[in-house]
Amino acid sequence: MKTIRLTVSLMCLISSLAFAKLKIVTTTQDMAALAREVGGDRIDILPITKGYQDPHFVDAKPSYLLKLRSADLLIVVGRELEVGWLPPLLTNARNSRILPGGPGFLDASEGCDVLQKPAGQIDRSMGDIHPFGNPHYWLDPENGRIIARNIARKLSEIDPDPQKTYEENLRRFESALDEKETQWKALAAPLRGMAAITYHNSLPNFAKAFGIRIVNHVEPKPGVPPSPVHMQELITQIRKEKIPVLLIEPYFDDRLPMKIAHQTGAKMLVFPPSVGGVEGVNTYFELFDYDLKLLKSALGEKP
Ligand SMILES: [Zn+2]
Repeated sequence: MKTIRLTVSLMCLISSLAFAKLKIVTTTQDMAALAREVGGDRIDILPITKGYQDPHFVDAKPSYLLKLRSADLLIVVGRELEVGWLPPLLTNARNSRILPGGPGFLDASEGCDVLQKPAGQIDRSMGDIHPFGNPHYWLDPENGRIIARNIARKLSEIDPDPQKTYEENLRRFESALDEKETQWKALAAPLRGMAAITYHNSLPNFAKAFGIRIVNHVEPKPGVPPSPVHMQELITQIRKEKIPVLLIEPYFDDRLPMKIAHQTGAKMLVFPPSVGGVEGVNTYFELFDYDLKLLKSALGEKP
């Protein structure tokens, strides 16, 4: 009996050594979801922020330091999305592998279609503007494809993969994405040209991908809460242009948007821009399924 138990535990030890998983930390759940598609069970993933949290402002727990210290790879959204909280964490983690430029660092935005790169000088008066373009670029499925390719390339670089698992997983992801994109296109057809107001400037890529018009934001400038004057401007605009929806990211206070909706008859929708933003949205595909169906139902269309 003892020998059996010993043999079993030895076998477990050997197999865990043989399949030591790559330790990956991502800054957001979206990056974790895409890394999961490509890495499958060869990797362990920890996202620092959850989809229901504002990725610009995170109170990162000290426990993440330990995870960063032993990580093989850090995947960031980049374009300064994490500039407010990641640099001090990285300094304290003391893991040179995962510093920008290191072998275990990946900026997922490489090669993506990033919108709204400001031309000319930027200054504080413009609010929390992103000098390297809008960092919410993962909300275009074609950018999701590029992110997945970036991850696959990086994983193959740092983890010799004779079975070509990453390549194979990427191929499977891309063909599933092709299929999904056809479905989403059909789903989004009645939404083309639809006007919407978003709380933060989170959706330019989503809007471009699906033909939606974002005409204003509840924040007058990124990171700046609405003033009474701006509120009144929004109310006037919604009435005049008959804007049907206000899209609010799950991490913003919805009291003011609710007031606007109440006064204008526009629908206020909690619109997750990230995997994990609401219950039931656990994969990259589920994020677009959910958001497109939500918009359709707001227009009174059957999802
Ligand atoms: Zn932003």
